[in-house]
Amino acid sequence: MDKKRRDFLKIAGVSTLAGLGGTAVVDKLISGSSPAGARAAHEVEPGHGTEHAAAGAGHDAHENSARSGTRLGMVIDLRKFRANPSLGEKVVKACHSTHNVPSFPDKKDEIKWTWMTGYENAFTEHSQYHKDRATMDHEVLVMCNHCDSPPCVRACPTRATFKNKEGIVAMDYHRCIGCRFCMAACPYGMRSFNWRDPRGGLDMSAINKRFPTRMRGVVEKCNFCAERVGLGKQPACVKACGSSKALIFGNLNDPNSEIRKVLKANYTIQRKPSLGTHPSVFYIV
Ligand code: SF4
Ligand code: SF4
Ligand code: SF4
Repeated sequence: MDKKRRDFLKIAGVSTLAGLGGTAVVDKLISGSSPAGARAAHEVEPGHGTEHAAAGAGHDAHENSARSGTRLGMVIDLRKFRANPSLGEKVVKACHSTHNVPSFPDKKDEIKWTWMTGYENAFTEHSQYHKDRATMDHEVLVMCNHCDSPPCVRACPTRATFKNKEGIVAMDYHRCIGCRFCMAACPYGMRSFNWRDPRGGLDMSAINKRFPTRMRGVVEKCNFCAERVGLGKQPACVKACGSSKALIFGNLNDPNSEIRKVLKANYTIQRKPSLGTHPSVFYIV
C-alpha cells in the first residue's frame, strides 16, 4: 500500500468501516434504495426486473426510454460464439493484453476482466429443465455488466469505483484502499483483487504502455474500454470479433444506434435480472 493510500486510510478511518461487518453492509447495499442519481437513471430504464422484461417487453420499453445522455452497453451474441469456438479465447486475450491483466498460475491469485464460463454459472436464474445440446456444450462470455444501479459503487467507501457520465462503472486505482467491499457487493463476481504485485504476472517487455499497470492491494475489472471509447475506438473485445458481430457495443439511449436495433430485433436476457442491478450487458442465447 503506498503512502497516499495509507494517509487516506488514516483520514477516512476506513479500518473502522471495515469492522462494521461486510455481509450486513453488502445485503443492505444490494437490496437497499439507490442513490438519487441512480434512481433517476432507472426511471427511464426499461423494465428489467424480470427475465421477460429484459426480453420482449424490455425492448418496447427501450423504444420509450430515449433520453439525453449516454448509457453504453454491450450485446453478446452467443450464437456467434457457438459457431466459432475459438472466438472466446481470442476475445479474452485481446482484453487482457490491452489492459495488462497479469497471469498467475495459482487460481487464488487469478486476475480476470472477462472469461468464458458455463451457462448455468452465467445464468443462475435461467435454468432449464432439459437443456438443449448447444447450451450444454458451449460457454458464455462474462464481463462486468456496468450495471445501471451498481451495488459495487454504493459499497465503495472511497469512490474508487464510480459510474461515469457514459454509464461505465470505472475504477480509480489510486483511490482504492483494497477493502474489497465492492467485491462482496458485486453479485456477479466480476472483480479481482491483486493479492500479489500484478507486474510479477506480466512480461514487462511486452506490456501495453498506453495502459497503466496496477499495484498490489487494489481491485480491478473490465472498464468497458473507457480509454479506447474516449478516443472514438471500439472496445478491444469488439475489435477482436472482426466483422462477426458477436459483440455489439454502443449507446443504449440512442434509438438509432446499432445496439438498439439489435435489441429490438432479438430476444435477449441479462444476468440475474431479479436483483434490480439493471445490467448494461445483454445476451442473445
Ligand atoms: S457487474 Fe458487478 S462490478 Fe460490474 S457494475 Fe455490476 S455490480 Fe459492479
Ligand atoms: S476495494 Fe473496492 S470498495 Fe474498497 S476502495 Fe477499492 S474499489 Fe472501493
Ligand atoms: S469492454 Fe474492454 S475491458 Fe471490457 S471485456 Fe471488452 S475488452 Fe475487456
